[in-house]
Amino acid sequence: MSHFKAPPKKSLGQHFLTDRTYIEKIVMAVNPQPGDRLVEIGPGQGAITFPLLRRHGELTAIEFDRDLITPLMEAAEGVGRLTIIHKDVLDVDFGKLAGEDRLRLVGNLPYNLSSPILFHAIEHAASIRDMVFMLQKEVVDRMAAEPGSKVYGRLSVMLQAYCHVDSLFVVPPGAFRPPPKVDSAVARLVPRAADEVGIRDHRRFADVVRAAFGQRRKTLRNALSGTCSVEQIEAAGLRPDLRAEQVPVTDFIQLANQPDAS
Ligand code: SAM
Repeated sequence: MSHFKAPPKKSLGQHFLTDRTYIEKIVMAVNPQPGDRLVEIGPGQGAITFPLLRRHGELTAIEFDRDLITPLMEAAEGVGRLTIIHKDVLDVDFGKLAGEDRLRLVGNLPYNLSSPILFHAIEHAASIRDMVFMLQKEVVDRMAAEPGSKVYGRLSVMLQAYCHVDSLFVVPPGAFRPPPKVDSAVARLVPRAADEVGIRDHRRFADVVRAAFGQRRKTLRNALSGTCSVEQIEAAGLRPDLRAEQVPVTDFIQLANQPDAS
C-alpha cells in the first residue's frame, strides 16, 4: 500500500513523475559513483529518490512539504539511508551541506521556483560538482541558448558564465501525475572552476547583464548608459551599437571586468 495519501499540491508545483522510462533516464544521467554526495531537491513521492537510493545506498533530500516527510521516511525503510532536510531549498546553504565535499544535485524542480533555485545554486557553485535538473522545456531552452537566438537572455548568460549547460532530453506532460501544461526537459549543469570563470566582481557582472537585457531591444550604448561608459564597452572589444542578444558570454565577462575610468 502506498505511503503517500495527500493529493498533489499545485502551490508547491507538485507534478509527480510516473513514467519509468524517464525515471530511468534521469538515474542514468546522474550515474552515481561510490562516494558521491547526492542531494535531491523536492523528492515528492520519491519517483527519483528511491531508484537512486536503491542504487547508491544513501541520499539527502530537501523537501518543503511537511505532509511528505513521514511517508518518505517510512518508504525508505529497508531501501537505504535517506536523510531529509525539511526546509525551503532557498534557505539551504549548499556550502555548509557540502563541507569538504562537492555535491551532486538532482531534482525535478518545482517549476514556479526554477529560476530562483538555479540562481541559488550558482551562488554556491564552488560546493557543487554537477546538477541534473528537470525544468520546463522553455526554461531549459533559455538556459542553453546561444547568442543570436531569440531566447538568449539573462538566464543564458548568468548560467553559462558559471556552468557548462547541456540540454539532455525532453519529457512530455503524460510522464507526470497530474500532467503539467507544458513540455519539460532535463539539463545537466557542471560548474566551471573559478579561474575558468574569470569574473572579477560577481555583483558588477550580475548588474551589467541585468542592465543589458533589461531593455533588450536597445543598443548596448543605451541599455548600459547608467552602468558602463562607451569607453568601457569599446575597451571590451564590443561595438556600442550591438544589442545584448548578440553578445557572447565571454564578452559580458570582459565588459564587467573593465576597470572604472573615473
Ligand atoms: N521529485 C518528485 C517527482 O519527480 O515526482 C517531485 C517533483 S515536483 C515537480 C517538485 C517537488 O518540490 C515537490 O515535492 C514539492 O513539494 C517540492 N518543493 C516545492 N517547493 C519547494 C521548496 N521551496 N523547497 C524544497 N522543495 C520544494
